[in-house]
Amino acid sequence: MSTGKINVAVENIFPLIKKFLYSDHEIFLRELISNATDATTKLKHLSSIGEYKGELDDLKIEVKVDKKGKKIHILDRGIGMTAEEVEKYINEVAFSGAEEFLEQYKDTAKDSGIIGHFGLGFYSAFMVAEKVEIITKSHKESHAAHWVCDGSPEYTLEASDKKERGTEIILHIAKDSKEFLEESRIRELLVKYNKFMPIPIKFGTREETLPLPENAPKDAKRESKTVDHIINNPEPAWTKKPSELKDEDYKSFYRELYPMQFEEPLFNIHLNVDYPFNLTGILYFPKLNNDLNIQKDRIQLYQNQVFVTDNVEGIVPEFLTLLRGVIDSPDIPLNVSRSYLQADGAVKKISNYITRKVADKLLSLFKNDRKTFEEKWNDIKVVIEYGMLSEDKFYEKADGFALYPTTAGEYFTFEELKEKVKEIQTDKDNKLVLLYTSNTEQQHSYIKQAEDKGYTVLLLDSPIIAHLLQKIEGSHESISFARVDGDTLENLIKKDETAISKLSDEDKEKLKPMIEEVIGENGYTIQLEALDSSSLPFVLTQPEFMRRMKEMQKTGGGGFMGSMPDMYNLVVNTNHELIGNILNTKSNKKRNHLIEQALDLAKLSQNQLKGEALTRFIQRSVDLIK
Ligand code: ADP
Repeated sequence: MSTGKINVAVENIFPLIKKFLYSDHEIFLRELISNATDATTKLKHLSSIGEYKGELDDLKIEVKVDKKGKKIHILDRGIGMTAEEVEKYINEVAFSGAEEFLEQYKDTAKDSGIIGHFGLGFYSAFMVAEKVEIITKSHKESHAAHWVCDGSPEYTLEASDKKERGTEIILHIAKDSKEFLEESRIRELLVKYNKFMPIPIKFGTREETLPLPENAPKDAKRESKTVDHIINNPEPAWTKKPSELKDEDYKSFYRELYPMQFEEPLFNIHLNVDYPFNLTGILYFPKLNNDLNIQKDRIQLYQNQVFVTDNVEGIVPEFLTLLRGVIDSPDIPLNVSRSYLQADGAVKKISNYITRKVADKLLSLFKNDRKTFEEKWNDIKVVIEYGMLSEDKFYEKADGFALYPTTAGEYFTFEELKEKVKEIQTDKDNKLVLLYTSNTEQQHSYIKQAEDKGYTVLLLDSPIIAHLLQKIEGSHESISFARVDGDTLENLIKKDETAISKLSDEDKEKLKPMIEEVIGENGYTIQLEALDSSSLPFVLTQPEFMRRMKEMQKTGGGGFMGSMPDMYNLVVNTNHELIGNILNTKSNKKRNHLIEQALDLAKLSQNQLKGEALTRFIQRSVDLIK
């Protein structure tokens, strides 16, 4: 037997490991299983190139919990280590790795932005164990070795009688880590971190019912047998070639990833590059509604099939965090903070690649089957619009597939839309006016008026639409978007002949104070205009610019405008019959009633008549029809 002192500068490394990685103790299992997997993969490789000539046998890894003995065992049938290798790889290499790690993280470990703690490897065992044993037999001809270390820098190394090739790690779980002696806790960790690792991992056994033999009598009972419970799928879909997978395979992998998700994904994007960086993965477009926040962070990041995190912020562009699925890349640096990640060249390339792939996929879906794409538009538009807003490259590409639906249920690309409206929807400066609504119910009467005139009304109802319209207008000088209730159609769109006012200037002078007297101080700006006689007598409009700025501040985070009251214009149609009645009515009381009634009708069509005002309106209406 030999004993020795591990050569470390930090006298007591273990309390430090505990302290620095406090929140992440559970990763010890991932690290040890990663080592076992590496050792097994190495052996397979040696065997494939003929350097290892022995039998491979059953290569699975096994995890066992011995609650009574307060131990966890991790066994592999990999290459194993000779005593010299234990000295070298464990006492020297692994320790220096741990030391380096601590040196690097003394200041930053508290930075919650660190994604993973790869690199600590074997010594992370001391986060949960007060004593660790390694019993290992190399694939080379040699005696097995037994290494024990109780958490001080002293260790012992002696011969062992282990016969089988491979390594067993025994963790004597510390008092403050008893949770890891619960099978349910270990199972949870295995599922979280090792669900897709490339070597089968056994954890306990399960009963499997056998099929009945062909000639079995009708009432025969089905036998069952005990089989290994393998917790992982060593060949997850993303490791396969796209050509090997059918639509159903992608769907079943989605269910494997999100067992609690009952809705099927809309479509998937298979990522697969090996130059200039290595990246595989499958992204899914889920059905999304308008609540963006709760739907984020479902993409899982892996490195060589080992789970790292489900927070991919900084790795994929923000708008794609609304997607689901898996990204696997060994080229993403993990021991760095998020802010550093975003500046990292390799990560930038990866992020651009993913964005491009998503755009290409959308374009091909649009081109190959436009009808299906249109049907899905409502469920995918949030991601696309968000992407157009935040990534300029995506914005350019989206020109090919971004759709503008109309209230009539048609879908146009931007080019098609311009073509469609160019003859009839221009303003006095010859700009194209794209009318839109954000809510077909609330703005119904405004939409109806526009449709009656033959105008196209878009239905744009995403929460971020104000920002996007602003951006589109910024890059197309000859376009302006106008919500149907932003102004009167007569003002928004140039007409061949402007309607002539039937009202004399003298009457106008009289009319204005009459209305002002009734509406009082409640903030409407009165605008007398000669509209079509078919328009309502009074119309409330909400100027586009202010409303849009307010909306933008609401979705973009507060600001002074967000707290300002809504501003409306009260447009009085001087060509409407009722105006004559108002002017000619002798009784003050009756005139005021007419004005109030007309105003309330305007409010009603803006959904603004509520509470006491609504009750008064109803009473007045009853009086009028009596
Ligand atoms: P890393 O895995 O990052 O190299 P570790 O500290 O986890 O660092 O392990 C140090 C070394 O110990 C490994 O590189 C490997 O050579 C050896 N080792 C660890 N676990 C095993 C194992 N289960 N079987 C064989 N060798 C192992």
